[in-house]
Amino acid sequence: MSSIKRILVTGGAGFIGSHLCERLVAGKHDVICLDNFFTSQKTNVEHLLSKPNFELIRHDITQPIFLEVDEIFNLACPAAPGHYQYNPIKTMKTSVLGAIHTLGLAKRCRAKVLQASTSEVYGDPEVHPQPESYRGAVNPVGPRSCYDEGKRAAETLFADYHRHNNVDVRIVRIFNTYGPRMHPFDGRVVSNFIRQALAGEDITIFGDGEQTRSFCYLNDLVEGIVRMMNGPSDFIGPMNLGNPGEFTIRELAELVIELTDSRSKLVQRPLPADDPTRRRPDISLAKEKFDWEPQVELREGLIKTIDWFKTINLEEYRAPTPNY
Ligand code: NAD
Ligand code: UDP
Repeated sequence: MSSIKRILVTGGAGFIGSHLCERLVAGKHDVICLDNFFTSQKTNVEHLLSKPNFELIRHDITQPIFLEVDEIFNLACPAAPGHYQYNPIKTMKTSVLGAIHTLGLAKRCRAKVLQASTSEVYGDPEVHPQPESYRGAVNPVGPRSCYDEGKRAAETLFADYHRHNNVDVRIVRIFNTYGPRMHPFDGRVVSNFIRQALAGEDITIFGDGEQTRSFCYLNDLVEGIVRMMNGPSDFIGPMNLGNPGEFTIRELAELVIELTDSRSKLVQRPLPADDPTRRRPDISLAKEKFDWEPQVELREGLIKTIDWFKTINLEEYRAPTPNY
């Protein structure tokens, strides 16, 4: 049997999705990238358009789609707080209907399907670092709930399609990831700080800056996602993927200022509601199952990301479209 697979990547034009498509195309697979371009643009996959084993479909995953595929990576969902809170009802629909449609497709095609879940399923965690066994502390009615609860419901659907319909599923919980092709106006901390530092603008610290996050470089993450998809079918996860190096937001700001040689000043802004106070993955499971752990330190990853930000023309990026 040929090792070339027909692979669908939903959200394939996004930050993580475009790198995943690139990797799969390089591996000679037949790749279908599906996206509605809500938080991305075609330029992310422009360099793949001329490849015979790459196809781009404009489609909204809240609607069913009929394709023949062997594998599906389900990444379609706005991921930055500003993006997913823009139209929270649509965000929930994207997670839940998107899961139902990709799982239905997988069931019909007998395809394997991986869900890009998130550390947000742990909410504002009381357990630190967070192992997969921790069930989380999520506010069901707050401004982040559309994303957190949508992703939790999607995990439930993945588990039930596996239990009841024998669909071959995988669930990874991704922690804060950064790197080239992040949307420069997504409002996430890494993109905001780099953009602000390069422009010499004030760096906006939300709250006192003592809250923590653990930042994983894009390439490490993609490697983890691919290993999970190719892993044994009796291990469906959920499995954490993230870099256990933990930094306060203030430390991140200072590092970005140093690496950009910027004169920007730190300014404080109000902390958004339900902003998790700390976050760090326990990655013992990924180490044990796949010998996976991140290779790129924050400093090194930031240098690469800053280099990319220096090359882009901000005028070519728009804020999320209001008419969808
Ligand atoms: P992104 O916003 O760059 O990518 C998401 C992609 O999905 C975009 O291209 C967007 O246009 C597309 N999309 C959104 N709604 C859609 C819809 N209804 N139909 C079709 N396409 C749609 O974000 P990202 O950081 O690349 O995240 C990719 C996935 O990984 C998301 O599911 C996200 O929840 C998950 N994730 C990311 C992080 C992170 O730190 N980057 C952390 C945890 C989980
Ligand atoms: N943050 C900040 N300044 C910014 C953007 C974000 O201090 O300009 C903080 C935010 O309040 C949160 C952390 O950085 O505590 C990470 O935010 P991000 O939106 O990147 O992702 P989250 O992990 O909260 O989903």
